[in-house]
Amino acid sequence: MAASKSTRKEIEKLRADLRHHEYRYYVLDEPEISDAAFDRMMNRLKALEAEHPELVTPDSPSQRVGGAPREGFETVVHRRPMISLDNAYSYDDLREFDRRVRELTGREHIEYVTEHKYDGLSLALIYEGGRLARGVTRGDGARGEDVTPNVRTIRSIPLVLDSAAIKKWKLPPDLEVRGEAIMSRRAFEELNRKQEEQGGKIFANARNAAAGAVRMLDPKVTASRRLDFYAYYLLNADGRDPLDRHSRALDALEAMGFRVCAERQRVAGIDKVMAFCDAQDARREKLPYEIDGIVAKVDETALQEELGATAKAPRWAIAYKYPARQETTVVRDIRVQVGRTGALTPVADLEPVKVGGVTVSHSTLHNMDEVERLGVQIGDTVLIERAGEVIPHVISVTKKGAHRRPFVMPEKCPECGSRIHKSPDEVAYRCVNAACPAKRKESLIHFAGRHAMNIDGLGEKIVDQLVDNGLVKDPADLYPLTLDTLVPLERMAEKSAQNLLDEIESSKKNGLARLIYALGIRFVGERTGQLLAEHFGSLREIEEANEEKLTEVPEIGPKVAASIAEFFSEAANRKLVAKLQKAGVRMTAERKAPRDSKLAGKTFVFTGGLEHRSREQAGEIVVSHGGKVGGSVSKKTDYVVVGSDPGSKYDQAKKLGLTILDEAGFEKLVGIK
Ligand code: AMP
Ligand code: ZN
Repeated sequence: MAASKSTRKEIEKLRADLRHHEYRYYVLDEPEISDAAFDRMMNRLKALEAEHPELVTPDSPSQRVGGAPREGFETVVHRRPMISLDNAYSYDDLREFDRRVRELTGREHIEYVTEHKYDGLSLALIYEGGRLARGVTRGDGARGEDVTPNVRTIRSIPLVLDSAAIKKWKLPPDLEVRGEAIMSRRAFEELNRKQEEQGGKIFANARNAAAGAVRMLDPKVTASRRLDFYAYYLLNADGRDPLDRHSRALDALEAMGFRVCAERQRVAGIDKVMAFCDAQDARREKLPYEIDGIVAKVDETALQEELGATAKAPRWAIAYKYPARQETTVVRDIRVQVGRTGALTPVADLEPVKVGGVTVSHSTLHNMDEVERLGVQIGDTVLIERAGEVIPHVISVTKKGAHRRPFVMPEKCPECGSRIHKSPDEVAYRCVNAACPAKRKESLIHFAGRHAMNIDGLGEKIVDQLVDNGLVKDPADLYPLTLDTLVPLERMAEKSAQNLLDEIESSKKNGLARLIYALGIRFVGERTGQLLAEHFGSLREIEEANEEKLTEVPEIGPKVAASIAEFFSEAANRKLVAKLQKAGVRMTAERKAPRDSKLAGKTFVFTGGLEHRSREQAGEIVVSHGGKVGGSVSKKTDYVVVGSDPGSKYDQAKKLGLTILDEAGFEKLVGIK
């Protein structure tokens, strides 16, 4: 069925709005609407596009993740080679660079543009007619790999360039944008945390993680890695500079919708470049991403052309590299630390050593696989690196110790003596005891979290004190707390203590879905909590369900089912549940009872847009009267409600001779106006 003019208009409007909000969120970091509102718009667009597949265009915001995994990448020749940058390791090197530039150009003073040197994977983005046509990796510099589907998943890369900016800067619509795909510190830490939780590979640094993510054969994996893109070159279709100054190119890129270095400066003379390097070094750890240096580029493109390039690097740019934060030292011991999720992390105790001005005395070894990969033993000399504020990590063994001895993973939890478990599909060894003291604090914080039991005011500081003073051992101990026990704690005025007690009290009524999530069972997130609650209705039944029964729940696979079953097979965990129940925590699901059952046994399918309500709202009305909403039309469908611009479901309904209602007919049937 052909789309009407109004549908086309709505689609166009949704796309424009979504583009705007993507830009606010992913480029500017200043969202104007809630995530939920964004999702609603996106869902509406996807629904319209599903009904009118002929209207789907590759630049639609719905099309960022599409396409199946690929077998490999095609090779693409770069219009202008993607060469490297010469490095400067000292300010003398910078002065020497400036001297050469002045000598070759005959200019006394040079204007430079300074930017961060991002540490990721460089990409060339080809825009045709203002639309993203292709994304290519640097490859060997002359040719790279076509990674277009992956590049499209990076939200800070505009699929469509801002046309007003193109006009304003008098740019051609065919352009090439070069820049770096990177992973922010936050995305990197989150990725490693997730990998650790799920027993996946731990990435040594954000660059490896970003480079790996761009080159994934499955764009869905790339999408899940949360990459960012920062632009630093603008070329026209023949690989030349469309603007007379690099600083203007960066401004134009920013106006067209890209992220560019926000701290960039245009400075006169090399001394100012050095001042910029100093200033950025001082606040380096505060940047959202890691940088390994500063790039200085001659601003005038005419001068750039005059200077030209060697085979390896342009003569008009230089990368100043910050001194490496690496050092060698001796591993005195390797011990085990029990972390948040009960994972046992091997940690190296080091001979204290200064790295980049900070004394380092231990370093994480992540997991047993990493210990084996490094081949590190107690007594070895190792090279360690400190990047950002994270704990330093061991890069390699530089000398084997004369009396070295291997590290052995303990068989019992060093904190509580419980059993250690390692599932075959993970690298981490874990303590199975939910009440393990090492896990206590973290599990309490998780329990009180906003999406779990939502106990406002139970932050880290309070939890530390509660656990350290022996007042709370597990989440169930929160419930008998009194004013007398809380008030003596630091930073606990009577009023805040009372507030906390009220919060704890009201959390009892949260219901099953939140409670399940709050228990912190591995692989059980909020959504799984809801599914379990809906399916079983009470914690008792979940406790008693075996793996087979658990997999009957839609969306719950064998891995999650096994994890749930294992959790409840542990005596300590069952004891915790009993204790929570005794404390008065609600263990059953809140089931929304239907208003009446006049639609019981009836299945509805909606197609096309309704006028008085969204289709979701209409669906809720059906459910509230005991009916069901189906996604597709079949013989079992009782009513098909047809709005404006209905899709193929309408034709199908006619073919099957089903009862077809318009919105008014639907309202009459359910008794509303
Ligand atoms: P390297 O890989 O250490 O030889 O450094 C050269 C690479 O640095 C370039 O190929 C770019 O991928 C990257 N790079 C990072 N930040 C910038 C920037 N602001 N301007 C130009 N290139 C950059
Ligand atoms: Zn333990």
